[in-house]
Amino acid sequence: MPELPDVVVYLEALAARVRGARLEGVRLASPFVLRSVDPPLGEAAGRAVVGFRRLGKRLVLELEGGLFLVLHLMIAGRLHWRPAGARLPGRVGLAALDFSTGTLVLTEAGTRRRAALHLVRGEAALAAHDLGGLEVLEADVAAFAAALGRERHTLKRALTDPTILSGIGNAYADEILHRARLSPVALTDRLSAEETGRLFAAARATLDEWCERLRREAAGGFPEGVTAFRPGMAVHGRYGQPCPACGAPVHRIVHAEHETNYCARCQTGGRLLADRALSRLLRGDWPRTLEALEARVPVRAPSGGRRAPGAPSASRASSPPASPRRPAPRRRRPGRR
Ligand SMILES: [Zn+2]
Repeated sequence: MPELPDVVVYLEALAARVRGARLEGVRLASPFVLRSVDPPLGEAAGRAVVGFRRLGKRLVLELEGGLFLVLHLMIAGRLHWRPAGARLPGRVGLAALDFSTGTLVLTEAGTRRRAALHLVRGEAALAAHDLGGLEVLEADVAAFAAALGRERHTLKRALTDPTILSGIGNAYADEILHRARLSPVALTDRLSAEETGRLFAAARATLDEWCERLRREAAGGFPEGVTAFRPGMAVHGRYGQPCPACGAPVHRIVHAEHETNYCARCQTGGRLLADRALSRLLRGDWPRTLEALEARVPVRAPSGGRRAPGAPSASRASSPPASPRRPAPRRRRPGRR
């Protein structure tokens, strides 16, 4: 799933191409991708693009007259920049936004249609798409500690919950936890102040560094090849491969719709989370589906701050190499402890 760094870089690339440009029209391959009915999509046509925002993992294009196009790429949604009027690719093509400067094509691989486009009018309607998670790059450690401390969860779940923290998903959560040398199943209410500080610093450094790195890789072009499995990641998507910090093999826990990768030597004092109670703890600390997690109702009113552009990334295109050993059998559970 495109996460904060991916969304930030998408928005920067879009701003460079469509700021001030006119949205001439939107072509939909299937009506299902548009999840809003009022205002009708036709009202967006003819308006200039005047702003760009990130709401968690959502991209927002602000059109003149107070309309906002809100795009959530979910897992497999991707954006592509094409010459004006480009044809929608068959099968994966969901929508084309035709601007005076070129066409933005939305695709989604796979059979499940989860990427979603909304057209909303006004700031209040836009705020309904803000799940209220803290912007780690704009927060201080006290606000971070408060956000984590509101509910008792495993760290992996807390990091990826859009009502707790904004823009972080499965991939960057694994990277942040590895950098902080903390276990994915450590509980939010058991963290020492020192550990909380380490997690905060790791989250900021990881997100900052990946924004910078993806920006450099795009090199002014439109970001293609957006994936949750990036060369250069320490543990995410690297099951069975050596941890870059210590050389021990990266482990995994399969839960809900994705998996967590971690280094036992660096993060859990050498303990494998194959232990039934622990993997049950992680799997149970999760809504049943990714949609449910991404659509959680905010637990508090969104705080006043504005948001910088930037957010989600797609995850889970592929699975890790055939596993010598899988810590826990894959099982769907509704979310019991
Ligand atoms: Zn390690």
